[in-house]
Amino acid sequence: MSSGQDNAPTPSVPRGGAAPGEWGGEWEVVIGVEVHVQPKTLTKMFCGCGVAPLNAPPNTHVCEVCLGLPGVLPVPNRAAVEACLKTALALNCEIPRHTKFDRKNYMYPDLPKGYQISQYDLPMSINGFLEVGTRKVRIRRVHLEEDTGKLIHAGDKLHRAWESFVDLNRAGVPLMEIVSEPDLRSADEARDYAMELRTLLRTIGASEADMEKGQLRAEPNISIRRAGADELGVKTELKNINSFRALHRAILYEVDRQRQVVESGGAVVQETRGWSEAEQRTFSQRSKEFAEDYRYFPEPDLPPLELDRAWVEELRAALPELPSVRRARLLEQLPATHVAIIGADRELADLYETAVARGAPPASTANWIVNEVAPSGKLLSPESLAELMKLMHDGSVTRDQAREAYLEAVETGRTPAEIVAEHGYAQVSDESELRVIAEAVIDANPQAATDYRAGKKQAMQALMADLRKRAPQANPRVASELLLRLLA
Ligand SMILES: [Zn+2]
Repeated sequence: MSSGQDNAPTPSVPRGGAAPGEWGGEWEVVIGVEVHVQPKTLTKMFCGCGVAPLNAPPNTHVCEVCLGLPGVLPVPNRAAVEACLKTALALNCEIPRHTKFDRKNYMYPDLPKGYQISQYDLPMSINGFLEVGTRKVRIRRVHLEEDTGKLIHAGDKLHRAWESFVDLNRAGVPLMEIVSEPDLRSADEARDYAMELRTLLRTIGASEADMEKGQLRAEPNISIRRAGADELGVKTELKNINSFRALHRAILYEVDRQRQVVESGGAVVQETRGWSEAEQRTFSQRSKEFAEDYRYFPEPDLPPLELDRAWVEELRAALPELPSVRRARLLEQLPATHVAIIGADRELADLYETAVARGAPPASTANWIVNEVAPSGKLLSPESLAELMKLMHDGSVTRDQAREAYLEAVETGRTPAEIVAEHGYAQVSDESELRVIAEAVIDANPQAATDYRAGKKQAMQALMADLRKRAPQANPRVASELLLRLLA
């Protein structure tokens, strides 16, 4: 805390009166985020076990290595190391030549070995950054480690459980830990940072980064300090956050809680706090442990990793265009609101750019992707989208017809042109327009009209033939119904 705090003026916003986090002015919010990401691999970090799908029965993806049985040795997963290096490179990190794994020792029933293999003083990468809006967020490190198992308590809470079970399917699953410096200044920024990270990870193919599936977990650490102070306040770290929305809310809540603690003369305690989605609040879980508590030491079963420069440069050269670069390019053609959506998703951006390259009009295509594709999540091939956009652009189909054709094309795999032709969308179906033509047909064919009214049903063929000659674009079904009605 800054020494001038005692003399600071009383904050003008009444305690508890402001919405959480909206309060500002005298306090500055300081946030760093630790993100755990499951890299896209088929197998676990140090053994040949497959990475279990979410619904796999408990303890079906385990072996001697991840169960921590004696007499076995771990072997690092090359795909996980590669994903971690790609992530580090995309985050502008330095890649040291030497890196090693360490044991982080603690006892918990979901950790059968009694330690987690992680990285301590020589991580896979250091000193990067990620630009989020106008903020340059420094990345302290990106390292590799392994996940733990999961405890399942019978009863709704740990302290009320009458028995507990352990599922070790996740024990040993690779995790990348991406640690930012405390450079974020609001809940909005922290959420945007996590979302930008997700876009980046998906773009480079390092992870699917699906928060709902637990492939991306964000743990913000939060403190507040007097605006202008250099010293950092005491921070709390938040866990159990399962969505970007929850990340945002949890930070707003926690900032407000800390402010109230300090303003009422108390001190923030350094601790880990959980986020309760049901109660929309954070709660104390445990006092924060320090690095010394874990008795880190080099993993004796794994030799240090020498990261071959040629390999690192190969990975760097193979990185695709990064989201920030692509967004800048899209901004030259499209409004920022559209770029915010299209540029945040590699699939949408690919769809847009390829469709436009195939001749689709840019503005209406971007509009279509933002309003029709993004909300439904239904993707059509760029070729088909281009075809449909051209049909809509030249007035052959209405927007509603285009929407129907789009959905049908997604479902059946047929081309929009085929569907439009089959449904007669490209034809004139407007009744008032067709009525004028139908009346003209009856006037021009008095004999056929009289015959039809007298019961000669085949006279209709002559009338329809004349109508088709006059209006080849007429929708035959609508036109014949009109003729029938006029002759009735
Ligand atoms: Zn295993």
